[in-house]
Amino acid sequence: MIIATERARRPSDFVAQRVQPVGTECVFCEGHEDKTPREILAGRSEESRPNGPGWSYRVLPNKFPVLWIEGELEPAGEGLFDRMNGVGAHEVVIETPVHSASLATLPVDAVADVLLAFRERMLDLKKDPRLEYVLVFKNHGEAAGASLGHPHSQLIATPIIPVMVAEELAGAARYYELKERCVWCDILRQERRGGRRAIVEAGGFVALAPFAPRFPFETWILPAVHRAAFEESGADELRGLAGLLGDFLRRMNRVLGDPPFNFMLHTAPLRDSELESFHWHLEVIPKLTSVAGFEWGSGFFINPMPPEDAAEALRADQS
Ligand SMILES: [Zn+2]
Ligand SMILES: [Zn+2]
Ligand SMILES: [Zn+2]
Repeated sequence: MIIATERARRPSDFVAQRVQPVGTECVFCEGHEDKTPREILAGRSEESRPNGPGWSYRVLPNKFPVLWIEGELEPAGEGLFDRMNGVGAHEVVIETPVHSASLATLPVDAVADVLLAFRERMLDLKKDPRLEYVLVFKNHGEAAGASLGHPHSQLIATPIIPVMVAEELAGAARYYELKERCVWCDILRQERRGGRRAIVEAGGFVALAPFAPRFPFETWILPAVHRAAFEESGADELRGLAGLLGDFLRRMNRVLGDPPFNFMLHTAPLRDSELESFHWHLEVIPKLTSVAGFEWGSGFFINPMPPEDAAEALRADQS
């Protein structure tokens, strides 16, 4: 667990936070570069200057970071408990200067540039030996946790492997030990051979509904051939992903009416990018239901939507 006191100080800060206003008030819109921290990376035309207008995407340090890059790692004991100071990095990727655009509406080249920015930041953060993992994720829409309406995603680099990823790594390693095959490669083989949970395949990537989705319309997007680490992807591969991701998001928006959603990139740990047992994937979860007492208390998820039906609806969409 991470306690980040910089982000919210008073109990009232937790009450019904509102998405910030659009257009002229939005700090992520073009022309408001002076209201953001200085950029780390940006897609820019020849004549534009850093931290000014004329960009296609920008990467910034988060103004309210969960973790900071400065400082030494200092694990310490406190009675029963272990604590560690929050060394890491928290960055924001502004995906487009256009407030009303989205990864579903941007041209494929613009989406590919955003994915290349993820890769470039991961490769750069990988140089810091204190960091073990970079989680890339997106909160889209207020219900999915976005505090700004402008299209953006985030990277958080951590000195430990996040628990959900650690569990996946361990499960995948057990499967590999038993069968000497990657579990995701096996799933792909099965679903592409006429499985009922495949949604769409293009450009070297497959979108499918997992066998046991926690949420309605939960979808995994993964490379059709074995790849452990996202940051090792070639530019052509990421262009293929951009095409499929845009296609999938448009299907989701049409079928579900532009739902709020989250995506999370699960990739191999920074120091373990050659894993035979782990296959990177993007988990997309539209926010259609809420997690309640039973789920919090048990870890079981109640999903009213069979994955075969969800996949069929998304697959059938042809507009
Ligand atoms: Zn904006
Ligand atoms: Zn694999
Ligand atoms: Zn995963």
